[in-house]
Amino acid sequence: MGNIIYLSDFLKNRFGRRVHKVSFRLNNTCPNRDGKISSGGCIFCNGQELVPFSYKKGMSPCEQIKSGIEIVRRKYKAEKFIAYLQDNTGTYGDEENIMDAVREVIKVDGVAGVSIGTRADCISDRFYRFFEELSKETFLMVEIGVQSINEKTLNIINRGHDVRVVEETFKRLSRFDIHTVAHIILGLMNDTEDDIRRLSLWMGDNMISGVKIHNIVVLKDTPLQNMYLSGEFVPPSEESLLRLYEVFFRNLKNRIVVHRLTTDAGRRFIVAPDYAADKSRLLSEIRNLAGKYISQ
Ligand code: SF4
Repeated sequence: MGNIIYLSDFLKNRFGRRVHKVSFRLNNTCPNRDGKISSGGCIFCNGQELVPFSYKKGMSPCEQIKSGIEIVRRKYKAEKFIAYLQDNTGTYGDEENIMDAVREVIKVDGVAGVSIGTRADCISDRFYRFFEELSKETFLMVEIGVQSINEKTLNIINRGHDVRVVEETFKRLSRFDIHTVAHIILGLMNDTEDDIRRLSLWMGDNMISGVKIHNIVVLKDTPLQNMYLSGEFVPPSEESLLRLYEVFFRNLKNRIVVHRLTTDAGRRFIVAPDYAADKSRLLSEIRNLAGKYISQ
């Protein structure tokens, strides 16, 4: 018996029906792009693949959620929805505006909770207080970009923060009734199998509830694309990548909700590796691997 439970099963158990995420955005920026920390961004990020499919310019957050719900209800037969603020750095910008938008979207008919994606170094004391209040009103997920727990790797990818700030953030969030999610990347340069084994154990040490796993891909218009073209970065072979997934699954010591197994970048953005473009085939390989670690 393993420690993995898929998000769809977790949500169905919790809400007793099919639940799906619906994204909205507020045109937030990111301190790793706007110059506050750096202007280059994380080397793998192109910032463009984060736009929700139902988004149209000028739509209010509630309009985006309502429009997204209509699409998702038809497509996935979902009955309840998690409003998902997936917008560069979700807690970075006009704080009052962000909090008001979140308060509004949770009132939309059918919305059962809210998920907010952000950086560990961008949660102010005010936001912690807001999260505490919000977690008493609705189901709250907070998703933190971790990527790697190897400091050298974080430097290479120009993450702009260290591991300590991420650990402190998870520690503070764990004081409230919040479903915390770590966004990690498998296959980054410099990360060894032992780093992935440590990362897996680290999830339990930091009381993290869920994980969003992305396989490394080279996206168009990113610094990583330049590194790939110059030969400075060579993506892992599919076999090496699958070994990293195996190491990660095998070493989990606490039950963890898996939110994603592969990157969600659109095929048109992917430069390399070739195997990443056939997402459904790769996903099926990873699901086969994950099968023996599913929590019963
Ligand atoms: S990955 Fe997140 S933190 Fe990094 S540049 Fe992109 S939006 Fe900013």
